[in-house]
Amino acid sequence: MSVINVAVLGAAGRMGRALSETIVNDPRFSIAAAVVEADDEQVGQVVAVGSSVSFTAELPDCDVVVDFTTPDGLLQRLPEVVARGAALVTGTTGLTAVQSAQLDAAAAQIPVLAAANMSLGVQLTHQLVALAASRLGVDVDVEVVDVHHRHKKDAPSGTALALGRTVAAAREQRFDAIAQLSRQGTDSARREGEIGFSAARLGDVVGDHTVIFGLDGERVEVTHRANSRQAFVRGALAAAEFLHGKPAGRYRLDDVLKI
Ligand code: NAD
Repeated sequence: MSVINVAVLGAAGRMGRALSETIVNDPRFSIAAAVVEADDEQVGQVVAVGSSVSFTAELPDCDVVVDFTTPDGLLQRLPEVVARGAALVTGTTGLTAVQSAQLDAAAAQIPVLAAANMSLGVQLTHQLVALAASRLGVDVDVEVVDVHHRHKKDAPSGTALALGRTVAAAREQRFDAIAQLSRQGTDSARREGEIGFSAARLGDVVGDHTVIFGLDGERVEVTHRANSRQAFVRGALAAAEFLHGKPAGRYRLDDVLKI
C-alpha cells in the first residue's frame, strides 16, 4: 500500500492543527505541506514540537488536499488545487450556492468530496433523523439546535442545515420553502410544516446538534455531541484515503463511512 501524500489547507486553524498532528503519526499518510495564509506570521515555524514540518504558504504537488479553512480561503486556493491535479477533501462550511457551484465545476477535473460534518456519528444521526421525520410526518414541529464554540463564523452550522435538509427530504418538502433560519419579533409563530433553526455560540464546545420533534404532550430529541475534533479528523482521513486515485467527480461522505 503506497503512502498518501496529503497537503493540509488551513493548517494553523483548530481543525488543521488536529489534522496535521494526526497525519504525522499515521503510517498511511505523509504530510506534503501544512499550508497557511500568505501573511500568516507562523510561516516557517514548525507545526508541532519535534516535527520536521513547517508552516508554508505554498501548495506543493501532492495526492490529496484536505481543506478546513473558510469559503473565501477555499475558493481562493481552488485553482491551485485543480492545477496540481490533486484530489480535494473539504470540510469547510458556510459556502454560498455560487461557491458550491464552483466546487462542482472543479469536480469536472479532480475528485472532490465536501461534507459539512466528517463524523461517523453524524452520519448515523442523519439516518435516525430521516427515520423519525418519515414516521412522524409533516404535522410534527421540527427545530434544529446547534451549539458551538465562540469562534465559529457561520450560523446555523453546516451540519444543522444538512440535518434540516434530511428532515425536508424525508417529508418530501422543498427545504428552501420551509426553512426558518432565525426567529425574532412579534410575528414569530410557527408556519405549517416549518423547520426552525437556532444556534448558540459559547466557550469551547466542539459541536452539538439536536433535532427536536415536537408533538402535543411529548417530544423526541435526536442529539449528537462531538467530544473532540478527532471525530472529524478520522472521517476526513478516511475520505482522503477513499478519494486517492479516484477519477474526477463529486463524491459523498456516505460513500466512505458506511453504517
Ligand atoms: P479556524 O478559524 O480555526 O481555522 C481556519 C484556518 O484557515 C485559519 O487558520 C485561517 O488562517 C486559514 N485560512 C483561511 N484562508 C486560507 C487560505 N486561503 N489558505 C490557507 N489557509 C487559510 O477554523 P476551524 O474551526 O478549524 O474550522 C475551519 C472550517 O471547517 C470552518 O468552516 C468550520 O465550520 C469547518 N469545520 C468542519 C467540520 C467538518 O466535519 N466538516 C468540523 C469542524 C469544522
